[in-house]
Amino acid sequence: REEKESLGVKDDLKLTLNAVKVLEARYLLKDEDGKIIETPRQMFRRVASHIGIIEALYDFMEYKKTGKIPENAEKIGKVSLTQEEVLRRAFNYMKEDGIMEGTFEEFMDFLSTKGTSAHLYINKFEEMMSSLDFVPNSPTLMNAGTKLGQLSACFVLPVGDSIEDIFETLKNTALIHKSGGGTGFSFSRLRPKDDIVGSTKGVASGPVSFMKIFDVTTDVIKQGGKRRGANMGILNYNHPDIMEFVLSKDSENKVLSNFNISVGVTDEFFEKLDNDDYVDLINPRTKKVTKRIKAKELWDAIIDQAWKTADPGLIFLDEINRKNPVKNVGDIESTNPCGEQPLLPYESCNLGSINLSKYVNGKDIDYDRLRETVWLATRFLDDVIDANKFPVEQIKKVTRMTRKIGLGVMGFADLLIKLEVPYNSWEALEIAEKVMSFINEESHKASQHLAEERGVFPAWYGSEWEKEGIKMRNSTTTTIAPTGTISIIAGCSSSIEPIFALAFVRHVLNGQELLEVNPLFEEKTRSLGLYSEELMRKVAETGNLENIEINEEIKKIFVTAHEVDPQWHVLMQATFQRYCDSGVSKTINMKSDATREDIAKAYRMAKDLHCKGITVYRDKSKTVQVLTAGTTE
Ligand code: ADP
Repeated sequence: REEKESLGVKDDLKLTLNAVKVLEARYLLKDEDGKIIETPRQMFRRVASHIGIIEALYDFMEYKKTGKIPENAEKIGKVSLTQEEVLRRAFNYMKEDGIMEGTFEEFMDFLSTKGTSAHLYINKFEEMMSSLDFVPNSPTLMNAGTKLGQLSACFVLPVGDSIEDIFETLKNTALIHKSGGGTGFSFSRLRPKDDIVGSTKGVASGPVSFMKIFDVTTDVIKQGGKRRGANMGILNYNHPDIMEFVLSKDSENKVLSNFNISVGVTDEFFEKLDNDDYVDLINPRTKKVTKRIKAKELWDAIIDQAWKTADPGLIFLDEINRKNPVKNVGDIESTNPCGEQPLLPYESCNLGSINLSKYVNGKDIDYDRLRETVWLATRFLDDVIDANKFPVEQIKKVTRMTRKIGLGVMGFADLLIKLEVPYNSWEALEIAEKVMSFINEESHKASQHLAEERGVFPAWYGSEWEKEGIKMRNSTTTTIAPTGTISIIAGCSSSIEPIFALAFVRHVLNGQELLEVNPLFEEKTRSLGLYSEELMRKVAETGNLENIEINEEIKKIFVTAHEVDPQWHVLMQATFQRYCDSGVSKTINMKSDATREDIAKAYRMAKDLHCKGITVYRDKSKTVQVLTAGTTE
């Protein structure tokens, strides 16, 4: 505790030391002198009060239609200036959409004379976040109630084959990064390297060289002074520059360091691979075949490069488009940076994750409480779409048309540990299936309920949902995000990943060392009288229990990411994918001695099990890596 207060932040939520550090560095609001002006609880209050106030607009809409005032309505004489800004903006969105009657002044008058139940939601939202049951994605935490006001993590932008189009998208990328979002692009429409440029009679420089411009832009724009941006770059397997693209990244991560890259593959590619056939490489400008290469040659290059550098991954375009609920709006060609969110060009999505480790009751999962959180979180995420300040007009239009939200989970490994179930077991897959199908189903029900209250998403007409006769407020409701930072804030294991290391030594300033032990592992070993600093230091050497003498049961339950066979990783991803509208972010971790065949097998398995994409990470395949099991700097 003392240490936490010496950071200069009053921790009023009993967070972990790492959570406080992260919040202090990037999330808590600061004044002009850089002094922190809110506590963690006040941060969640800020977020809740700028999202929950949206409820008042729907109350007003209902009142205009039916004359009804909500139960428990409270008259509000005055809202804060920042709340008023959010309300005015959202009011105008709704006006533009043709769903709001009356004037803003009339609405403000309604607030003070008739009242709203928004305060109830504000309180519930605050409680849901400050209990760490649910945490929205970083931009919502950072920007709600601020000038930036941009609340989404995920964006996809189109890249057209002209200088105007490319630089228009570059500008939009800069605006998105500045506001805390990540961007994904397909570069497949760009004419290949050395192709003709009509206006200048010169030659084109090709997708990879343009990607480098996006990369530099990302480097230069530090987001709202907070974090550097992230990108996904996709090129389809039959683009003439595909080999250059596949080989573009290096293990020192010096080139395209702000990009994850993935090859866009289709069912046809796999047919060709299976028949040892050729792939026709097609110039997207002329639609002419420029060259033929063996599918196997491309496949081997992809696998070899993924073995060396962890890139490229694959994205399965046919699978994504088969599951696209709004085919009436268009085809999907890209995902966001970490791969979990397939989106249409100019579409954005806001995410939030439920901390599953909080839903264990003895040896059972508390489904009743989980249901309540799913419903409330779905409502919260739908409100975010209205509270959002979109960085680009077109993004506002497309996002409000499909109203995608991405409710996901974190703390899944913690949940398994609490239930004493090993991650790499059939039982764990069964739990994954049960939990995620429950969340998916309940969030669909919650979205249907919202559709009754607020209407269907505008592109519902003509969508797959309409064909099924199901009225939805949101075209998708579920996504499994990586939860890189929000799981640190919540103090739980990230996303659906296994524990990365049970203990490790962190080198801090002045040559001091800090031994960090996974809290569940500490609790367990203490309860069995096994805990000792000596043991923990030994565990910290590798991060796992492989070579530690300890009872087998504990070894199984506390299995770590690198000990889990890659096939279990893929099975887990596929299981969550089956019950998830959008995609699943998952790293298929492999030991450093994993072979190219292991990678090929994982990629193939992901395709066969209907995943939407796949990324592997072989330990030490990058010289600079974010996480290292065992002793770190
Ligand atoms: P968080 O925990 O911060 O909410 P996640 O790790 O769950 O974020 O990532 C979710 C999505 O947020 C990513 O797929 C990406 O679209 C976006 N994102 C994450 N980190 C960054 C970053 N540094 N810059 C831009 N976007 C990011």
